[in-house]
Amino acid sequence: MNYDIIIVGAGLVGLATAYQTKLKNPASKILILEKENNVAAHQSGHNSGVIHSGIYYKPGSLKAKNCIEGYNSIINFAKEYGINYDLCGKIIVATSQEELPLLDNIYKRGIDNGLQNLKYLSREEFREIEPHCEGVKAIKVPQTGIIDYPGIADKIKEHFEELGGEIRFNNEVKNIIDNNDEIIVTTAASEFRTKKLISCAGLYSDKVTTMTNNKNDVIIIPFRGEYYKIKDEKKHLVRHLIYPIPDPNFPFLGVHFTRMIDGNIEAGPNAVLAFRKEGYRFFDFDFNETMQTLLWPGFRKIVAKYGKTGLGEMHRSLSKAAFTKALQKLLPEIQENDLVPGGAGVRAQACDRNGNLIDDFDIVKNGNIIHVRNAPSPAATSCLSIGKKISKLVEN
Ligand SMILES: Cc1cc2nc3c(=O)[nH]c(=O)nc-3n(C[C@H](O)[C@H](O)[C@H](O)COP(=O)(O)OP(=O)(O)OC[C@H]3O[C@@H](n4cnc5c(N)ncnc54)[C@H](O)[C@@H]3O)c2cc1C
Repeated sequence: MNYDIIIVGAGLVGLATAYQTKLKNPASKILILEKENNVAAHQSGHNSGVIHSGIYYKPGSLKAKNCIEGYNSIINFAKEYGINYDLCGKIIVATSQEELPLLDNIYKRGIDNGLQNLKYLSREEFREIEPHCEGVKAIKVPQTGIIDYPGIADKIKEHFEELGGEIRFNNEVKNIIDNNDEIIVTTAASEFRTKKLISCAGLYSDKVTTMTNNKNDVIIIPFRGEYYKIKDEKKHLVRHLIYPIPDPNFPFLGVHFTRMIDGNIEAGPNAVLAFRKEGYRFFDFDFNETMQTLLWPGFRKIVAKYGKTGLGEMHRSLSKAAFTKALQKLLPEIQENDLVPGGAGVRAQACDRNGNLIDDFDIVKNGNIIHVRNAPSPAATSCLSIGKKISKLVEN
């Protein structure tokens, strides 16, 4: 069982990395090891389904570069292979005068990132697009869209296999021994040997990084994002995508309304500290994973910085009335009984020892091993670009 490259994880980042690397090196023997029994089992299959435009990200950052490049790649891929998508556009809405400077900052970011045709809209103008939305001013972002990410994952898998790539499901990587000229990767059932290894393990990227570097200085803190669905009879309240002004100190976009590619309208996701990495329900709990978070040197600083916001998110998670109240800022007509529980996803958010939630994508190379240590949103949009970047790193 000898390979040129082994990739850990069959989420969108692992799949796109395998696919781009195989395209670049058709003769190389590439294997993906995935612990679940299918692709996109975690973040990649539990997200908002939005193709992000790149408006929010710091110019020059990996997020900004890969989102804009990835945006074009994913649309071309979807077009070529018949995956459902719709560039329906979104509005970002300031709901008070105090939010106007923040709206201006977002607009400026968009311009700095090269986005075209952004437009400020007055209340009258944005209500022509979203007649039930309330606020004082908005930005129209025409580039934003919605897409079937699980469909993208399935298609990338199909093409990777057609090119001769191999995927083994139900193979959790338990140990990695790096002998420089050969890396030995152990799963419960088998042992594999490879020249190079790339880890794209999402919520467990810290665990896999620690297998090759016990001085790893970041951990993954899981933040669950919960959704409600809007009942059919109230779907007319939202036509496209409606976003609030995000809290500039918090790396998440705030609860928004999203028309999904299947026609459902979702409200969410919030951002609740999870007590299990793959904990999709409020009371899901794993002792070791919770202790890892609580004992992390940076965690106390996180509590100091984000404690109040975090408690608010927990309250809105437990109380549908409070969640509805938050939604009513953008959509006053929405009522508690218009909402039914939707799904949830858990974000893998890297945090350093000083309590900083790492904002940008973080990819490190050490010898023959590459670890994707932080790939939060917009990594689904950006996956084909991230994959291409990693395929170049592999060559170097
Ligand atoms: C609620 C939510 C909403 C989001 N909305 C959007 C959006 O609208 N647009 C957007 O662009 N992005 C969005 N994102 C972000 C996006 O979904 C993620 O950034 C992206 O899916 C990350 O992909 P990944 O492959 O790194 O991780 P994952 O999809 O989590 O894949 C990692 C894989 O590694 C496997 N794995 C882990 N450990 C091991 C091991 N030891 N051995 C073998 N396999 C292992 C896991 O089982 C998993 O399948 C959202 C995320 C969430 C959670």
